[in-house]
Order: sequence, then C-alpha cells, then structure tokens
Amino acid sequence: MHTMPILNHSLWLAKAHNTLANSPLSGDIHTDLVIIGGGYSGLSAALHAAQQGVTVHLLEAHTVGYGGSGRNVGLVNAGLWTPPNEVEKTLGHQAGRMLNTVLATAPDLVFSLIQQHQIECSAQRSGTLHCATNRAGLRQLEQRLAQQLQRNAPVSLVGPTITEQRTGSCQFLGALFDPRAGTLQPLNYALGLAHAAIKAGAIIHTHSPALSCQQISKRINNANKSVNNKRGSPHWLVNTANGSITANKLIHATNAYNTLSATNAHFTTVNYAQFATCPLTEKQRRTILPNGEGCWDTNQVMSSFRMDDRGRLIIGGVGSLDGKAKQVHIKWAHRKLKALFPHITEYEFEYLWTGQIAMTSDHLPRIARLGSYGIRLYGYSGRGIGPATVFGKEAASWAITGNEDGLPVAITDPTPDTCTGLKAAYFDMGATINHCLSHRL
Ligand SMILES: Cc1cc2nc3c(=O)[nH]c(=O)nc-3n(C[C@H](O)[C@H](O)[C@H](O)COP(=O)(O)OP(=O)(O)OC[C@H]3O[C@@H](n4cnc5c(N)ncnc54)[C@H](O)[C@@H]3O)c2cc1C
Repeated sequence: MHTMPILNHSLWLAKAHNTLANSPLSGDIHTDLVIIGGGYSGLSAALHAAQQGVTVHLLEAHTVGYGGSGRNVGLVNAGLWTPPNEVEKTLGHQAGRMLNTVLATAPDLVFSLIQQHQIECSAQRSGTLHCATNRAGLRQLEQRLAQQLQRNAPVSLVGPTITEQRTGSCQFLGALFDPRAGTLQPLNYALGLAHAAIKAGAIIHTHSPALSCQQISKRINNANKSVNNKRGSPHWLVNTANGSITANKLIHATNAYNTLSATNAHFTTVNYAQFATCPLTEKQRRTILPNGEGCWDTNQVMSSFRMDDRGRLIIGGVGSLDGKAKQVHIKWAHRKLKALFPHITEYEFEYLWTGQIAMTSDHLPRIARLGSYGIRLYGYSGRGIGPATVFGKEAASWAITGNEDGLPVAITDPTPDTCTGLKAAYFDMGATINHCLSHRL
C-alpha cells in the first residue's frame, strides 16, 4: 500500500520530543544582551552568555529550530566544506589557520554540550564518509587527505571495498573517513540547547519576530531616560508586534531565514531537499551504513545520505520541493536510492522537506559589524552545526568582554555579495537539470 509522503514537514519536526512552550514577548523590557534568531548560533550564544551571568533575551520569529537548525542533514563535521588550504589562502595564513584550528574541534564542543546538558538528540560519533563518485572525485579526496594530514587530523582514505562494506553501496571509488565527525537529530539538538540556555537563565521568546532593530542614539537615550539602567545607556532597540527590548549588545543570528532586512544580499540562498523513507526492515538495515556514519559525495551537485535512529534512510540533494521542479527532485531521489542500494525495492518516502542554506561567495562564514555594539553571524554555507555552535559561543564572549580577538573570524563591515538572486536561480536550475538527467541509464 502506498501512502502519500508528508510534504514539507521534516522528519525532525515530526519526531521532535521536548518542544518548548510558546512564550511571545509582550511589554517593554531591558536586557544586557538581545539575540535575534533561535537556531544554533543564537541558542549557543544565549547559553554561553547566560552561563556567565549576563541577562539574555532571545527573539525567535517562529519556534526554536525553525530555520536551518531544524531542517539540516545532521552531519556534525569537523572544519568547513572549503578545504583548509583554500581557507588559509582566502583569509591569509594566520586568520585562516585560526579558523581551521577552531573548527577542527567544533564536533568536540557539540558532543560535549550534548553530554553536559544531557541533550537527547540521537547523537552518534561514528564519523563521516565523503564518498568519491568518480576519478576526479577521488583525486579531490586525495588532496583533502594530504591537507588534513598536514594538520594532524585523524582522517583516512578508504578504498572501494571498505567503502562498499561501510556504506552498503558499490557506487563509490573510495571515501575519506573522518572519525571526529558524527550525526545527530538536528532539531532535538537545537531544542536541547534552548532548554540548557533557559536553565542557565536566558529568556527565549518564540513567535516573536523582530520587526525593526535600531541603534539608539544619545539623543533618543536622553529622551527615554526610563530605559536607561545602572549599567549605562542601552545601545539597541528591537521592536516586535507586542513589545520591545532595549539592550546593551545585539547578536543578530538569523542566517538564511532572516526576515529583518529587506534583502538578504549578503549571501546566496541555496535550497536543499531531503527525502526520508519509512523505517527499513532489520535485514535491509544491516546492509546500509551498519556503523552509522553520515555520508555525502564529491559530485558537483552534491548529495547526502544517512540513517536515522529508527532505520529510516534519508537522501538529500540540492533543489527545492516548493516550486515547479518538485516532481523532478522526487523522481531523482527514487532513482538515486535505487542506484545506491538496488536491493532496496520495498520502501516509501515518508517525509520530504526543503531547507535553505546561506552560501557566501567564498563559502566561508562571516561576522559582520552592526554599529559599535552589535554583530551579525551568517554564511555557514551548509556547514553550520559545529561552526554555528562555536560562533555562538565566541559571540557570547565578545558580548561580555567586548574583546574581538577571540572571535573565529575577524569582524568585517557588512559587504553585500553580488547578483545573489541570479546565483540562487542558477543553483536551483542547475540542480533541476542535473536531477532530470542523472541516474537514468
Ligand atoms: C537542508 C540543510 C542541510 C544542512 N546540512 C548540514 C549538515 O549536515 N551539517 C552541518 O553542519 N550544517 C548543515 N546545514 C547548515 C546548518 O543547518 C546551518 O548553518 C545552521 O543551522 C545555521 O544556524 P543559525 O542559528 O545560524 O541559523 P538558523 O538555524 O537558520 O536560525 C535562524 C533563526 O532566525 C529566525 N529569524 C529570522 N528572522 C527573524 C526575525 N526577524 N526575528 C526573530 N527571529 C528571526 C528564524 O526563524 C530561524 O529560526 C544544513 C542546512 C540546510 C538548510
């Protein structure tokens, strides 16, 4: 019997366990730190700031994890998608080395927070496999291996036989195995961070979109003496429909889901769709990813696959299920699954959903300056579980100390990227054409 898959309702949302009670902002309040956005960046910042005794209010437009943090693949990677040599070339040796070093240990931070706060998010540190689909992909992995070994990373390149044993697919020429990495249930990780932040004293207002956000000039401050507090004049005023927050510091952490600015011209929005099967049979599960690694491939139009803790196979690929190309992507996902695992003939897709990635021109994350007392974190370019957790933590230190030196990247002036609308359309069209053609023979 075929049941209809649930479109645009993510598996992670359907299986989320510890939801948060709705708590919209009402009234006018003052706080040390206001955070806009309840994903990993904002939640990690809230948790780490609250732990230091700072008063923190976080505004989330919808529910915690509504954005990328509740929709992603759940691969907790070490480092960025961009190879480390390229990171150093782009940022300069010293700054690039610092970012590479900090993010190499990002999974340590994620898994230690999970342990420390007893976050139930099906976390499994079984590593990831970056799988080569052709000779060019294998060469790319050899280069990545050399760069990682130079930095003493514990990665290894495994051949086709071992890759087949580990993935259950004979489609690959080899894979780069990274034991530092792992998988988790993304939304449950976000919710766990939220609970930990609240326990530490942070206040999270869900269903509270920030409608405007402005720096308070001295003139406004003098006219509004009532909002001044013993810690000095506030620097920010954030308005929502039913209240406002004045704050000394601001962290803007809305990444690809930003609704605050009129445009998101600082990055290109890239859609990524995922397709989760119903739980596979015990026999089928034994053959696919028996050790539980998370996988992605070397294709230019990348795809990913992993299992969840109930034995659902989750295939992912660039593209949106919201537009006209929905059927193209669904058909592609069926062909992809059959190409990877021809023995899986009895299955159905149970959940299909799309998420939006904020891709910068060089695929590196940014911290942009917002006046003297605010910063904006964005542009994780599809690698945000570890990086956003790290950036949020370091942003909290910045909010407390004002010290910029500890931030993983230097604060830069907001610099709009060029032609982001055109680039987004190019990614969508490229993925549709690729998915139309691939795995047809
Ligand atoms: C489909 C997909 C797959 C991915 N796979 C992986 C992966 O496997 N591994 C990995 O490391 N990374 C992955 N990523 C990237 C990762 O999910 C993101 O980088 C990360 O979640 C970013 O976290 P964030 O907190 O910065 O932003 P988000 O999680 O997007 O949170 C931003 C929040 O801001 C809120 N918001 C927006 N505007 C306002 C406003 N005006 N007022 C209040 N709140 C507002 C939104 O509702 C949203 O909840 C993936 C991303 C996607 C979309």
